[in-house]
Parts: sequence; structure tokens; C-alpha cells
Amino acid sequence: MNQGPIPAAEAVNKLIQELNKLPGIGPKSAQRLAYYLLRTPEEQTRLLAEAILSVKQEITLCSVCFNVTDSAPCLICRSDQRDRSQICVVEQPQDILALEHTRVYHGLYHVLHGAISPTEGVGADDVRIKELINRLQSGSVNEVILATNTNLEGEQTAMYLHRLILPLGIKVTRLAQGLPFGTELEYADDVTLTRALEGRQEF
Ligand SMILES: [Zn+2]
Repeated sequence: MNQGPIPAAEAVNKLIQELNKLPGIGPKSAQRLAYYLLRTPEEQTRLLAEAILSVKQEITLCSVCFNVTDSAPCLICRSDQRDRSQICVVEQPQDILALEHTRVYHGLYHVLHGAISPTEGVGADDVRIKELINRLQSGSVNEVILATNTNLEGEQTAMYLHRLILPLGIKVTRLAQGLPFGTELEYADDVTLTRALEGRQEF
């Protein structure tokens, strides 16, 4: 009688299932990682587990720009080296890493934590747009750089923001040149991103 494949031990199975929930990790990779961790010295796996827990326990969102941070406000918002007249609007915190890596931008950021997507039921109130407009009303900003992704959601969000910001008398630019349609900022290379920043055009 065929009883089907015998599953891995309960704890191993559970680890595989959890790893499988991570982005980009399919069932095969999850299995490989689980067995890798099983062979790894306990001390090393403890460091990994502690690192995962501490990002959840120690990291919060900056109360000003909503970047991930372990100090509030974040280092960029607190820095006196940054140009406070510019705010670059991004979808995700990891986009800031990509832009900082180019070293050509020295202004502030604002993280939306998503993009408007009517098809997925994400509206303007589901991302940090209200908070951005509040920041802009302080009057010290004279350029907003829209650095949302160049896919449909990113473009829709940029257009929506443009309409909202224009009446405030603030220059709105779009980081687009050199970025092919469909680009997710975090995966763009330095040269492309630098070009896109330097070649930004008024909306
Ligand atoms: Zn901040």
C-alpha cells in the first residue's frame, strides 16, 4: 500500500514552512536552507535567530520620514549635513539604501510604505501621504523628488502626489530618466540611479 512520502521531522518541517514564507524562497530553497541550518553550529544559528528578533524589537519607524531606524528621529532626519529644502519620496525603506549608495543626493526622504494600487485595494490613506503633505506645509521644502517605482502603481502614485503638491507652490520633479518602465528602485544599479537623480525632470 502506498502511504505517500514520509515527511521530515516535525521541527524541520516547521522551519521549512517558515522559510518558505520569505520572499524569493521557494520550497526547494527553504528545504536547502533548513538542512543547512541543521548542520550549522548552534552558536551561529543563535546569532541569526537573535538578529531576526532584534530587528523586530529594536527597529521602529522614524516619526518624521518613516524610514526604519533604531533612534527617533532617524540619522538622516537628525543630520545637519542634509539639505532640508529637498524631500525625496520613495515607496520602501530599502529604496533609501539604494539612493544613499549613489552619494549624489543630500536631501531628506519620505517613505510611503507602499504605492497606490486601486486593483489591490490600496488607497491614498493606506500609504503615508497625509504625513508627507503635513511635512510640506511647514514651508521649508522647495523641491519634492518623486522616486516611486516606474511601474503602474509607482506612476499612479507619482501623478496623485503631483496633483496634491502643486497647489502648495513646491517644485515637483520625477526621477525617471534612464530608469526603464517596470523598474523597482532597490534593484536599480548605481550608475542608472545616479543618472536618474541628476536628470530628474520637472513634472
Ligand atoms: Zn527620518
